[in-house]
Amino acid sequence: MSENLIELYSNQQTLFGRGSIDRLVPLLAANPQPTLLFCGRSFLNSPAWARLGAALHDQILGYEIVSHEASPAEIDGWVQRWRGHVDRVVAIGGGSVLDAAKAFGAMMQHPLNTARYLEKVGDTPVQAVTLPLIAIPTTAGTGSEVTQNAVVTDQQEIKVKASLRHPVFVPQVAILDPDLLKGAPDSVLATCGIDAFTHLFEAYLSRKGNLFTRQHALNGLQLFFRAWPHLNRDDTVGDDAREAMMMASWLGGISLSSAGLGVIHGIAGELGAIKPFHHGEVCGRLLFPFLDVLAETTHPEQQRLMAQLGEQLLPNEAAPPALALKAWLQQHAIVPFWQDGPTLSPEDVDWIVARANSKNGWVSYDAPTMTEMLVAAWRVV
Ligand SMILES: [Zn+2]
Repeated sequence: MSENLIELYSNQQTLFGRGSIDRLVPLLAANPQPTLLFCGRSFLNSPAWARLGAALHDQILGYEIVSHEASPAEIDGWVQRWRGHVDRVVAIGGGSVLDAAKAFGAMMQHPLNTARYLEKVGDTPVQAVTLPLIAIPTTAGTGSEVTQNAVVTDQQEIKVKASLRHPVFVPQVAILDPDLLKGAPDSVLATCGIDAFTHLFEAYLSRKGNLFTRQHALNGLQLFFRAWPHLNRDDTVGDDAREAMMMASWLGGISLSSAGLGVIHGIAGELGAIKPFHHGEVCGRLLFPFLDVLAETTHPEQQRLMAQLGEQLLPNEAAPPALALKAWLQQHAIVPFWQDGPTLSPEDVDWIVARANSKNGWVSYDAPTMTEMLVAAWRVV
């Protein structure tokens, strides 16, 4: 038997293409059910809402606005309000909106409070039940529209960022409309995009991966390369870029679900438990010092996979692949999101490093290496 067997879960139905959000209303109308909408406030001010709002209104019971990563208490509140009244969920927004809706759909079918089912801190396994979810991302990065997990964050009480996870939590339908990315601020396009890159890159390098996951990740990385320099352009090159990034993000979700992630997400997950920083920006900031660490690696599998990746993505580069990748990403970014920014205290760094791990990487990084990455990514004062 092969060493790494891969299980891949995906949407039952995936709609892809510019303007595909216009299929939402007919999809709902074809099968009328009490439906709750989760969305971000920005969607209510978007051209898509101006076009669809009235028709969509006829198909939904009500809506909940999500403005940040949902906490267990918020999810419990929504479940309390809607239990017994909702049979289907639609989510239109960024990763926080999609994850909130995914957690809500799952918890509507579970009897206990959210915290009881959370990885890391819960004491009860989730069951294979959830409400059907139609997920429509308005950012390209998290891949939440095709992953099995909903990330839940509590920075106040239990200080944890953890997932509810089960294959049935994969959204039944994903509608991927690249035009929904139009008009997003450059910083959002770039920091979400670098999250997609990190998912694909860490899945590619994962020791749980095999041909199947690496080929999906490589497809995604090649699309990312096409998209990254042009995400904010207001012309056909920009349209092509946003289309490529939307698909790269979906492939990132597929890849991370089956092959897992690495030390960047191992650190980001803990940092996210205590700091309200944008997840994609956190991953992007940690990515650059991690590439410096990778450039020095003596691990034969890491060396082999990085050489393969360098050949595929940057074939004419003389520099070590990790350094060539870092230079290319920084040179072609539409905004230098890794400059300036917030600070961490030495206590924050110690708190994070004490809890972080290297996930599915080949190397289990020690505390000094993780500290070095954090200190390179944020000013520590
Ligand atoms: Zn991520």
